[in-house]
Amino acid sequence: MSAKHNLKGRTVEEMENLMVELGQPKFRGRQLFLWINQKKENDFANMTDLAKKFREALAETCYIPTISVAEEQASEDGTTKYLVQLHDGRKVEAVFIPTEGRATLCISTQVGCKMACSFCATGYQKFTRDLESWEIVDQLLTLKFPTPVTNIVLMGMGEPFDNWESVVRALKIFQDPMGPQIGKRHITVSTVGITPKIREFVGANLGRLAISLHGTTDEQRSSIMPMNRKYPLAEMMEACRTVGFNNRDRVTFEYLLIKGINDSVEDAYRLVELVKDIPCKINLLAYNENTFVDFKRPDEKVVLKFQRILLDNNLTTTYRRSRGRDIAAACGQLHHKHARATQAQAQAQAI
Ligand code: SF4
Repeated sequence: MSAKHNLKGRTVEEMENLMVELGQPKFRGRQLFLWINQKKENDFANMTDLAKKFREALAETCYIPTISVAEEQASEDGTTKYLVQLHDGRKVEAVFIPTEGRATLCISTQVGCKMACSFCATGYQKFTRDLESWEIVDQLLTLKFPTPVTNIVLMGMGEPFDNWESVVRALKIFQDPMGPQIGKRHITVSTVGITPKIREFVGANLGRLAISLHGTTDEQRSSIMPMNRKYPLAEMMEACRTVGFNNRDRVTFEYLLIKGINDSVEDAYRLVELVKDIPCKINLLAYNENTFVDFKRPDEKVVLKFQRILLDNNLTTTYRRSRGRDIAAACGQLHHKHARATQAQAQAQAI
């Protein structure tokens, strides 16, 4: 008997095509897509508007997999971190972050990461594999949240543009009117700056773009983000500058301030120059010290001075004090995989 078909992580069109392939009418694909991606149903027996005979046939030929939760940690500020267990026993992280008026889910796209950013513990982990589209989507479908998720950020473990096909498929599913209905303005994909994919992503109009910038010269940025050697700053900024964003779109530049590395007044002015003709906002984060990497957190007054220079130059700039720090799990922190988060994960994996 041939292998069963996985029904999760397929777009509506792919689901329709599969049904036709299985000798069913096309509309069955839409029905199944809705049951799985909007009603979050994983059991054919509960899909009551489908004929019993069809449900039985489905159970013979298809299956609906799920991820599971290995560990869950809730922070005092409402942030919840999930250590997600995959079917092969590997683990990734997802973080639920409630803020006023929204609830954001930070999702992982790979197990480990090839990008090797030196401030990031994931960068030190061996890349193991890409997540399949269903494993990306299922972080939204299967995890249980205190309130409904309104926003999604692909800033968890991995570089989303390095897992392009699965990420694009997941973004289409998130946005589908018959799916979870998270609109593209509520979805942000964060990248280290893989230039050709930046252009492709913006062209596809599947969500907002965030760039992990973290440096204002090639020398500085390459020293902490090796991918900068392949896609230097000028080239990456050009991709952000020339791609035709629609009027309301802005790029988000994430800038992690590390003491003595990229937190000088000169850096602040260089940053102003770098982004001045790009519709954007800047999210500043201050490095969280850990035993994993010997980087230091800048003094608060250095961070505020840096922010002041940006604000005085009319750049929309936020300084995010990490949320969920008591569980080492705020989303920015998760993305940068400071050692505390990884240690927490390593401990959880050791249990
Ligand atoms: S910061 Fe992001 S892209 Fe860089 S190594 Fe960490 S997970 Fe990968």
